Amino acid sequence: MKNPIRQVRLVAVARYFSQVCLAALACHFLAGVAFAQQDFSKVEIKVTKVAGSVYMLEGAGGNIGVSAGEDGIVIVDDQFAPLAPKIKEALKGISDKPLKFVINTHFHGDHTGGNAAFGKEASIIAHENVRKRLQEGGPVAGNEVKPAAKDALPIITFNDRTTVHVNGEEIRAIHFPHGHTDGDSVIFFTQANVIHMGDDFVTYGFPFVDVRSGGSVSGLIAGVERVLGMAPPDVKIIPGHGALSTPADMQKYVTMLKETRALVASAVKEGKTPAQMKNDHLLAKYEALGKGFIKSDSWIDTLCTDVRPKADAPVETRGR
Ligand SMILES: [Zn+2]
Repeated sequence: MKNPIRQVRLVAVARYFSQVCLAALACHFLAGVAFAQQDFSKVEIKVTKVAGSVYMLEGAGGNIGVSAGEDGIVIVDDQFAPLAPKIKEALKGISDKPLKFVINTHFHGDHTGGNAAFGKEASIIAHENVRKRLQEGGPVAGNEVKPAAKDALPIITFNDRTTVHVNGEEIRAIHFPHGHTDGDSVIFFTQANVIHMGDDFVTYGFPFVDVRSGGSVSGLIAGVERVLGMAPPDVKIIPGHGALSTPADMQKYVTMLKETRALVASAVKEGKTPAQMKNDHLLAKYEALGKGFIKSDSWIDTLCTDVRPKADAPVETRGR
């Protein structure tokens, strides 16, 4: 960073707002209020150098991964449209090279909202289901999302994986089917030894699994375990939301996913209904994780859809 004093102030302000904004995001998501109505004027962008040419930007919405070097800038996700000028300012503080590519980890608006702004100067790359879902719009967590403008659509799509060769990096985007959605990619910065997980890994508590958009808890577990199997032990992990993490943090997360799923699976076997599981405080061990965006009861509903997808369990999580 060019100005260390400004950086300290930014860090303090951004820490406060990242908490406020996560809460605001959850409320807006669940109340069905358009993201555009959120007040972004006080959000500041915190820049963290992760390793090598890779940085992490936090503001409001999903974490942004950045590769900056002699060939230009590549960003992974771009938060909300109103933040695009501030994100551009933050990128200028890292490098004066042009933005070349934007990679979307998935289609949700808190990760792709800046696409229209950044797509004017860079090429947007994503899994084909990201383009399809942005193009079509539809309900996300009870919020009707409008079809995206043409400028906001990825112009390069892939089915399984693709690689961007810049800044001495091989930036690999690999599709992990049916995790948080059906279009999630995990991004591997292979030289800097950094992974951006998108929303397949978050640190705000129980995760949001967008079952209506092709997400699945079993798929999420399989995907995260696959990444852990591929990742070097000293890799740095950028979660979709939350602080920079380690493989140990992600191992803890996947253990929680498996344990809570197993608890619900055995309760279903015993003939218990979701209402009984909630009354019994089935997930008491993980109570602290149910105080954020996704409440414990909502996580039980999501797990029920995974354990017995064809039964009469609710088909989506709404965080009630
Ligand atoms: Zn998401």
